[in-house]
Amino acid sequence: MNCKLIDGNKIAQEVRHEAAERANLVLKKTGIRPGLATVLVGTDPASQTYVRMKHKACEEAGIESFGLVLPAGVSQSELEAKVAQLAADERVHGILVQLPLPKHLDTEAVLSKVPLGKDVDGFHPMNIGLLARRGCEPHFVPCTPWGCIALLERSGVPIDGRRAVVLGRSNIVGLPMALLLQERNATVTVVHSRTQNPEALMKEADILVAAIGIPEMVKGSMLKEGVAVIDVGINKIDAEDDPRGYRLVGDVDFESAREKAGWLTPVPGGVGPMTIAMLLENTVLAAERVLLETEAAV
Ligand code: NDP
Repeated sequence: MNCKLIDGNKIAQEVRHEAAERANLVLKKTGIRPGLATVLVGTDPASQTYVRMKHKACEEAGIESFGLVLPAGVSQSELEAKVAQLAADERVHGILVQLPLPKHLDTEAVLSKVPLGKDVDGFHPMNIGLLARRGCEPHFVPCTPWGCIALLERSGVPIDGRRAVVLGRSNIVGLPMALLLQERNATVTVVHSRTQNPEALMKEADILVAAIGIPEMVKGSMLKEGVAVIDVGINKIDAEDDPRGYRLVGDVDFESAREKAGWLTPVPGGVGPMTIAMLLENTVLAAERVLLETEAAV
């Protein structure tokens, strides 16, 4: 099979460039830069790295970023009060609460304090509900599945009328991914840890999105010839030959999958770069909406 590799770095760069141009237009019209606030609770190194990467990406796109760092022991009410402050801050167009939060905090309650118009991560329960309802538009779509759709669409993968299988049903990836594909008229099957005979379902897929967190679980032998495979998984596996002692792999066995697939995303360099790119796009969109409301009020 002549497999086309989907270059997430290149497509993410295009999206970031477009976001930067739009951010610049907002600045020209209003004198205000789009602004993103991040909320980081505790000192988890991976979360710190993700937040740092988001701030750097904002800077490159001409988006103002505000970083709120709170101690791991912050109380629910203190955290919610801080989110409410950001919600009221006119300089802040988007709010991102870095997940996971420490276990003593109620994540759903915190996320529901982010106003819908500033929910650039798309995790507010109302935004997921709007995504699920036919004829309704969510204010924002969660960044990772939104990035997967951008990869498919910008690579020319047909979705309408095709059979899609989504592996995983998490709130942040699998569930919104399935809804987005269905909205684009794919016939969608969701596979999870209790699914019987998942391989028979996978063999039917014209589009397969893997978001389960199990290294290289999907093998080429499980795929239909010509399928478009989007590998969301990011897993560390031991690698003695790598100076870091590990390497990153997806949920899909890249080498065997490329023998069967028509399109395939690599890990790293596939879905990963798209998540931040879509966050920038959502933040600029939030600022543009404020601009439109202001213009309408004049
Ligand atoms: P979760 O752990 O929240 O969800 C995993 C899902 O996979 C669950 O729905 C689970 O089913 C399902 N699952 C587990 N085992 C199996 C199995 N053997 N067969 C079928 N389904 C199974 O993970 P996330 O959705 O948060 O993340 C998934 C992967 O994507 C991870 O590798 C993560 O690192 C990566 N990721 C990458 C991002 C990026 O930017 N590229 C962003 C977010 C995540 P059940 O519901 O029954 O438990």
